[in-house]
Amino acid sequence: MQPIDRSTVWPYDERGEAGQFMYQRYAHPTGAAAEQALGALEGGDALLFGSGTAAVTACVFALCRPGSTIALAEGAYFGTGVTMRQFEPWGREVVEFDQTGAPPDGADVVWLESPANPVLTVPDWEAAHAHTGLVVCDATVSTPIFLTALDEGADVVLHSATKYLTGHHDALLGATVTRDVELYRKLYEARMRLGLSASPDAASSLLHGLETLEMRLARQTETASELARRLEADPRVTKVRYPGFSGLISFDVADARAVETATTLIRNQTSLGGVTSSMESRYRWEGDRIPKGLLRLSVGLEDVEALWADLDRALGTT
Ligand code: PLP
Repeated sequence: MQPIDRSTVWPYDERGEAGQFMYQRYAHPTGAAAEQALGALEGGDALLFGSGTAAVTACVFALCRPGSTIALAEGAYFGTGVTMRQFEPWGREVVEFDQTGAPPDGADVVWLESPANPVLTVPDWEAAHAHTGLVVCDATVSTPIFLTALDEGADVVLHSATKYLTGHHDALLGATVTRDVELYRKLYEARMRLGLSASPDAASSLLHGLETLEMRLARQTETASELARRLEADPRVTKVRYPGFSGLISFDVADARAVETATTLIRNQTSLGGVTSSMESRYRWEGDRIPKGLLRLSVGLEDVEALWADLDRALGTT
């Protein structure tokens, strides 16, 4: 097992030269071990960041220039667009597009999310690949178990490792993975210079999380598929979105607030990807961008019948 090394500094060698590790903001042994493990799964070189949002920040900083346009998948994680728009005063423009079709001509960066959270669309890879811009894919919900985005043609894959990769709602962490030496260098530089580094403890959570990732995702997929099937057949539910893999479902009801506050096993909280199930109405955050009655359900490892009983009872309150 990789021990957690919380040192912030490591001595120079006998000649006074810096070794692989010298200051924690640059790199640290626990992070390097976790990057190795994630990079092996994705087939590229990984870098950890202090959060998924820190990884988004690094990408926007490193991959864009004043005048750059980012074409962002419509219905992608709400906060990603919000973070990108922080850079508008510095001349980065964000336009949204339907990722099931071609990205707009002339965009410098095409930003996909597979599947998009919470609308759960998947990108048209052929169209993205044919585009002239750099392609970034947020694969948080797929994880490398269901998608190796670099093989599909992404230049950079990004994760909020806060979600499935660590999997226990106890670590805030982000990651990028790329095969391009120059992009890796720019992202590394952005991490170090903007102070976006991940802690050794969060990196250690990733190492633990990766050990069970495949089994967790298999079970979450099995349970989510069954719940999606039952929701689909339920007249109290007007629409169900489920891509057929991973643990995230979104569905529409008449009164989302009534349903989300009525579950007991399923926690009414934000975030996703943990071993415990959680559900929330996304309207409170995203407003009219999504249907008012949309509930996002992140399926954990609980018994499928117990989860259905909880949902069924909560749906009865509408
Ligand atoms: N990308 C996706 C798809 C997400 O769902 C989230 C968080 O919800 C993020 C990025 C941002 O990650 P973090 O909360 O770790 O900053």
